[in-house]
Amino acid sequence: MSSSFVNNEKIGQNIRKVAVIGSGVMGAGIAAHMANSGYLVWLLDIVPTTLTTDEQLQGLSLQSSSVRNRLANAAIGAMVRQKPAPLYDNSFVKNITAGNLSDHAKQLSEVDWIVEAVVERLDIKQQVFTLIDQTRRVGTLVSTNTSGLSAHQMVEHCSKDMREHFAVTHFFNPPRYMNLVEVVPTSDTLPQVVDTLHYLCEQKLGKGVVRAKDTPNFIANRIGTYGMLVTLQSTAQFGLTIDEVDALTGIAMGRPKTATYRMLDLVGLDTLLHVVDNVHSRSSDEQEKKVFTKPPILESLVKRGALGQKSGEGFYRKSKAPTGKSIVESLQLDSLTYDIAETNESPVIEAAKKGKGAAGKVNALLHAYPDHVHALFAWSTIKPILLYSAKLLGEISDSIVDIDKAMKLGFNWELGPFELWDAIGVQASVARMKEEGENIPLWVETWISNGLTHFYKQDAGYTWYVHQQQFEQLEEDPNVISLSKCKERGATIWSNSGASLIDIGDDVVALEFHSKSNAIGSEVLSAIRYASNEVSRNWRGLVLANEGKNFCVGANIMLLLMEAQNEEWDEVEDIIRFFQQSMLQLKRLDRPVVAAPHRMTLGGGVEACLPADVIIASPETYYGLVETGVGLIPAGGGSKEAAIFAMNRAAAGAGPNGISERKLLAGDLQPHLNHMFETIAMAKTSTSGHEIARLGFARPQDRVIMRQENRISEAKKEVLRLDRAGYEAPKEQLVTVAGREGKAVLKLAIQSMKLGKYISSHDELIATKLAHILSGGDLSSGAIVSEQYLLDLECEAFLSLCGEAKTQARMSHMLKTGKPLRN
Ligand code: NAD
Repeated sequence: MSSSFVNNEKIGQNIRKVAVIGSGVMGAGIAAHMANSGYLVWLLDIVPTTLTTDEQLQGLSLQSSSVRNRLANAAIGAMVRQKPAPLYDNSFVKNITAGNLSDHAKQLSEVDWIVEAVVERLDIKQQVFTLIDQTRRVGTLVSTNTSGLSAHQMVEHCSKDMREHFAVTHFFNPPRYMNLVEVVPTSDTLPQVVDTLHYLCEQKLGKGVVRAKDTPNFIANRIGTYGMLVTLQSTAQFGLTIDEVDALTGIAMGRPKTATYRMLDLVGLDTLLHVVDNVHSRSSDEQEKKVFTKPPILESLVKRGALGQKSGEGFYRKSKAPTGKSIVESLQLDSLTYDIAETNESPVIEAAKKGKGAAGKVNALLHAYPDHVHALFAWSTIKPILLYSAKLLGEISDSIVDIDKAMKLGFNWELGPFELWDAIGVQASVARMKEEGENIPLWVETWISNGLTHFYKQDAGYTWYVHQQQFEQLEEDPNVISLSKCKERGATIWSNSGASLIDIGDDVVALEFHSKSNAIGSEVLSAIRYASNEVSRNWRGLVLANEGKNFCVGANIMLLLMEAQNEEWDEVEDIIRFFQQSMLQLKRLDRPVVAAPHRMTLGGGVEACLPADVIIASPETYYGLVETGVGLIPAGGGSKEAAIFAMNRAAAGAGPNGISERKLLAGDLQPHLNHMFETIAMAKTSTSGHEIARLGFARPQDRVIMRQENRISEAKKEVLRLDRAGYEAPKEQLVTVAGREGKAVLKLAIQSMKLGKYISSHDELIATKLAHILSGGDLSSGAIVSEQYLLDLECEAFLSLCGEAKTQARMSHMLKTGKPLRN
């Protein structure tokens, strides 16, 4: 079974140095992600045979090392500029060393894992593996990032030890952001090598791993490419435009909005032709060969240099009008010229938009207006994918779970083919397929002739799936605690409409937000209070985590805006005080609290994490106090905590004994105060978990894990560790502030920003209020204040900003558009 969870920690831990060969799109991306995971990386490419004009002008020769390492050097240089960033933090680039295969082949004998990512040509890959075989130490792991060439053929000429330690690790582009890695062994690969590579990709690189078989294009590209090719054929058959097809095959089908043609432009039309050829040249199935025939339209576009996004045009062409406005034109399939993209309206698309979740959308697409050309088109693309996936079971993978997982992680589909089939009704759709003269794979026929209606079933929080004509229970990953599964198993101990308290075992509970966008409103705050009381009485500790798309997008400002517009100032104050006191209660809890934020964690979401004893962030965490964007300052304890951060850092810099050694001076505090002020005033947000520290929000005990899925179990382990160490409730904290002197420095910075026209008068007002709180108001420098004093300053500033028309306009704009207003 595919989802065997390997625990190869011991072998995996010994892997420290890696080499990546080929510094192109994928090699560079893989090297960057290896560096993200703490590996020391050699990035090697070929030695250039000619000098560039620049190199000639600099007097360099083909023997100069900067020329010889040019390709890898250029790739490393690009990493720190690229958007979206391949590195979690630009400082990680120091873990990567550039080299070339001629001068640095010796390094291959010093690394523990070699990943090949050179061009997709069997002969070239074979040459590279010969060199690796001659150089590597016995036992070194070797993997290839081929998109779908035969793994077996690549190393058939190599030594036994090399073949035994070799497999495919197929990353998707871009490696940091795409979750899938297909691990594909050959018949020679040792089982422990497959387990180790699985472990490394999953636990160390944080990817979702699917084990596949050594067949053309493995799982995801085989099915995904087939899906694109049948969509291309159906587009012509139904006479639709590419805009119509993209409206039907994207979100409406539970797939990314890049849909079909935008996705093809992104992948590169020339690249797709290679992938198509991989299957065509190796398939012996005539029907399959027919689908995997290079589509004439792709060939003609590639011939004229329209390769997609990388060449500026493909199925779409983007340009700028003289006014600077972007223009998107789409290819007219009859004339192969470009014209402005049409808006697509049809009752089918409208119905799909209204459908709930991917299942609701696809059902609406197919069944709301079943005779509409759009519904018939949708069916003509979905049906072959379902049948093809079912037909390939056993050939590309033995498990429907892995096929579904590969499509979800590799192509960002919300439902894999078998999940989709379940969603639209297996029996009814098979009946329709038969009426239309389709051959149904025998295993599906047998399954439904036994009266079974689904490929999956859920039973008391456990998932079962069809495997060899029986329901087999899905193995669970011991590193992953699923809150939804815990709930299905009856582990909810308390709940309201905004949050639930869930028993996650070993006397630890998790508080899960589940309000809209996980925003913090009165329900969530009440839940935090309830949880604090309950945990103090009956549990060893609390985890703050959830399984939403984002951890928390901030406080719910809807109610706040209404109260402000009605000038109900007492109500506004009550909301703030309730927020502050809830956070304070969490902070002073006599049991350990660990927060595990993931993805967007903004404003109030950050304020909910700050009272935790430890924050365990996921690698993709976008974290920041962004209240100024809605014309406010953090007033749920966020500004107060920022003043504490500044004090603690100044104290740490004051000597080994820190604050107790001597009284902090304004001069000690100022640089740290400036940093926190700038972070909050400019609403800076981290672009990764690692960048949280750069913004100044991380404490020494906080950390970032490599795999988001592990966050709840890691947080629970941390709670238990703190509990075992004899946890005691944190004491009331006294805060040394920079006072009037500190505020004056901040005000000077604000004024120069204003004079330089970088900020508006309203920004100036907000920043001045923030400066007042962070520096502790109008006290003398080095004054010591209570946390409550700073909370009072927060409350006062917040209330006065709520009364500003421009703040209300910012809040209202955010609620309407989801974007900040600059006014
Ligand atoms: P690329 O063309 O961007 O880069 C290939 C690199 O290999 C170049 O830097 C080239 O100089 C180098 N190279 C060529 N011959 C070499 C040799 N003999 N020794 C060392 N280096 C050599 O290609 P890419 O898109 O990065 O693809 C690399 C591999 O990854 C291919 O096998 C491809 O099929 C696979 N892949 C690509 C993607 C993608 O989206 N681009 C996704 C998954 C897998």
